[in-house]
Amino acid sequence: MCGIFGITDNKEAARLSYIGLFTLQHRGQESAGLAVDDGRGINCRAGMGLVGDVFAGGTLEDLPGRAAIGHVRYSTAGGSSIGNAQPLCFNTALGPVAVAHNGNLTNTAELKKNLQSRGAIFRSTSDSETIIHLMAFSGKRDPLAALEKSLPKLAGAYSFLFMTPGRVIAARDPLGIRPLVIGRLGRSWLFASETCAIEVVGARVVREVEPGELVWVERGRLRSKRFAPRRRPARCVFEQVYFARPDSFVMGKSVQGARYEMGRLLAAELRAAGVKADLVSGVPDSGNSAALGCAKGLRLPYRPVFMRNHYTGRSFIQPDQKIREFTARLKLAPIRDVIAGRTVLIIDDSLVRGTTSRKIVRSLKKAGARKVIMALASPPVLSPCYYGIDIASRKELAARRMSREALRRHIGADGLHYLSVPGLMLACSGKELPEHLQEGMRPGLNGLEKDFCTACFGGKYPVKPSKGE
Ligand code: AMP
Repeated sequence: MCGIFGITDNKEAARLSYIGLFTLQHRGQESAGLAVDDGRGINCRAGMGLVGDVFAGGTLEDLPGRAAIGHVRYSTAGGSSIGNAQPLCFNTALGPVAVAHNGNLTNTAELKKNLQSRGAIFRSTSDSETIIHLMAFSGKRDPLAALEKSLPKLAGAYSFLFMTPGRVIAARDPLGIRPLVIGRLGRSWLFASETCAIEVVGARVVREVEPGELVWVERGRLRSKRFAPRRRPARCVFEQVYFARPDSFVMGKSVQGARYEMGRLLAAELRAAGVKADLVSGVPDSGNSAALGCAKGLRLPYRPVFMRNHYTGRSFIQPDQKIREFTARLKLAPIRDVIAGRTVLIIDDSLVRGTTSRKIVRSLKKAGARKVIMALASPPVLSPCYYGIDIASRKELAARRMSREALRRHIGADGLHYLSVPGLMLACSGKELPEHLQEGMRPGLNGLEKDFCTACFGGKYPVKPSKGE
């Protein structure tokens, strides 16, 4: 869970990267950083906190240069500390190299042991540093050649941006687990985790970096080379379920559009299960798009039932026990007259530990709901993620710990429903779906699941996590 952004050939490189990173802030709020090439060397600045805080008051003016790469971090491997803030910048035998990484490597432990036995000294606890040592030990002098030799040694999920003097290089893992897209703005080439960050700076989205592709900009031209054979991708489906911004596009379809279809397919499944309600609502903001689709599919009114306070920030994440309930209401306040006396079908994007759903149901009941039916626009989360999404550990996963009925009782709902895996696959496929979905539509998978990683929903892990991960 991180966001990366890069730009070439632009006198506003740092400023545009700042805007790009700001747009990717939802992908990580722990640290932010930029590496800028000013023609004489690479200058790096990174700090703990939000993009706006790290680059407050004139810091960007100290970063002149025509190319930049940047990063926002949410730690999934390695601790939360300034030493792990990216881009990580190094002086190597190949010259200065900066790296920004989104994803999680699954063979870091083995690689690290081997590199350390050959003399490598790691300066961070982040898995992202491994690639720099592999490059340094590759025996190659040119960073591109070093990368071509080193990338195939990595296992797991990675979208990388590298900066070397005069060059920005992008690479995506052979299965394309994490996203990475290319954009164009005048003479500049851009790279970003999501299309929303390309569009925000007025650039055009060109295409994705393909899984297993190495892309770089040389004298204004985009060059490309494969470092791994073409395979069927295993894109992380949780990007569409929860992580990506609704205005980003994946496979030609907006995330908002995919979530709306998740809602419509969920409605078809709910109708087959005989679910009845007075109104449909979403848990703001992550459940809203699916709730709209679900209301449409069920021909029920969509009514917001919660007012979300957008100003609570991180300070409220670990409140004192006494004010916990109070702060839950501060974040999401129920709109009582919409709720009272009604059967509310409430949609959220996912249920992981079950804590959120429990709070939501309790709050709706307290506000006078006659019945509360909880429905999730994704299947039960059954397995942890080793590729960079911060999903709880195996023993914390509610759907693993309890039967559906026990979980329904645990969250206090009158009904608990999930979207099926085939429904989710179809919603994310980018296919046009008919306006009227048949009751109980359970589409055949038709191999669709093979384009996505569904390991967290009980699917196969596309790359075996190694011991110690
Ligand atoms: P839980 O309380 O653990 O069941 O969390 C489920 C809620 O957290 C849902 O409302 C999701 O929108 C949100 N969520 C899902 N995945 C994540 C994640 N990886 N990190 C933070 N929040 C998440």
